[in-house]
Amino acid sequence: MQIKGIRGFKDILPGEVEKWQLVESEARRIFGLFGFSEFRIPLLERTELFARSIGEATDIVGKEMYTFLDRDGDSLTLRPEATASIVRAYLEHGLNQKNPVGKYYFVGPMFRYERPQKGRYRQFHQIDAEVLGVQEAWADAEILVMLMRYLEALGIENLSLQINSLGCPQCRPPYKKEIQTFLQTRRNLLCEDCQRRLETNPLRIFDCKNEDCQAALTEAPEVLSFLCPECRNHFERVKTLLDDLRLSYAVNPRMVRGLDYYTRTAFEVVAGELGAQNAVSGGGRYDALAEEIGGPAVPGIGFAIGMERLIMLLPGKRSLARHPQIFLATLGDKARRRGFSLAQELRDNGIWAEVDYEEKSLKSQMRQADRMKTPLVLILGEEELKKNQVIIRNMATKVQEEIPLGEIIRIVENKSKQ
Ligand code: AMP
Repeated sequence: MQIKGIRGFKDILPGEVEKWQLVESEARRIFGLFGFSEFRIPLLERTELFARSIGEATDIVGKEMYTFLDRDGDSLTLRPEATASIVRAYLEHGLNQKNPVGKYYFVGPMFRYERPQKGRYRQFHQIDAEVLGVQEAWADAEILVMLMRYLEALGIENLSLQINSLGCPQCRPPYKKEIQTFLQTRRNLLCEDCQRRLETNPLRIFDCKNEDCQAALTEAPEVLSFLCPECRNHFERVKTLLDDLRLSYAVNPRMVRGLDYYTRTAFEVVAGELGAQNAVSGGGRYDALAEEIGGPAVPGIGFAIGMERLIMLLPGKRSLARHPQIFLATLGDKARRRGFSLAQELRDNGIWAEVDYEEKSLKSQMRQADRMKTPLVLILGEEELKKNQVIIRNMATKVQEEIPLGEIIRIVENKSKQ
């Protein structure tokens, strides 16, 4: 039986991969303007890192992690997200002592054992950005404007930025309690998962897609009315700075996000076009995370963009595939060998040249050039070789001319510029 790939793990094929390259290079360009440096983290971490930061009671830690014992009996986990690893590495390498403000971005795959569906995979990719060491609202406003500018630069429209504040370790627990009490009386309306969440992680019920669970929450108290004065001021300041930047947003007091480590600002970018899995990006502040994993207090804020969803939103069906600049069609062994070295000379001069490897007829070589969409073809047979000439054919106009072999590089360079 032919071996197939794993469910929820997608191949990214040539033709599609150019979109990935585009969103990555645009991220590097825009994030560079904001002073962010790239951070690369390992695929595997100690399970404890995620359990303590994301939270034991979250769906990610509770049922979605790829966890296994390695040969020494250590429990390791394929990273389900980047923030915890970046904070771990930042502390481990003492980056907080070298520079109090760290601005980092990351691009790479994540792993979560979720039920695969459109826009949801078991291996998916994220573009993350994190600002470490700044508690003030400047960082919140700046990372949000960077996120939205990036999405705009990709030409993605109809996005809505939703923000909320989740309070801090002082004001969130009373709110959590309040939600628990409120939902106890509506317990039988909740789905099985949410009945369990009611005990362990009641705020996560806001994220449930089940209509009955949402109906149970209709009159639920809102987190914003529970904020302590410091959290309220912080949230007001974030909104003022976003207004100064003329960045549009909507306050969504029901958006709570699924990870335990968020404090204060939380946000999501939602795209109407995506259907059920409509969040293209999410993030928030995590001022207590560094301490949760045993480090000093270091405030932080970050976002993660789901790359699969981002690519689904890219405008236009235009293919970004690249095409060779020239194809060398040759006839006869002597000409083939000359053509083979000529292709190398062209490449040495920065020209993408392709040859036939199967010793096909001239006709099928021309067909192959057509398929590859090369604008130019060089035709080299024994006759031309004797005269030290070569035929160059413009595939669009079908015009052919004979040119001296020694002039090829100059002529191809000129024609490619036209
Ligand atoms: P989170 O880390 O859960 O806040 O997710 C951040 C972003 O990653 C989401 O807004 C999605 O765009 C994307 N994402 C999360 N889980 C998946 C998944 N299983 N498959 C595809 N994209 C995902």
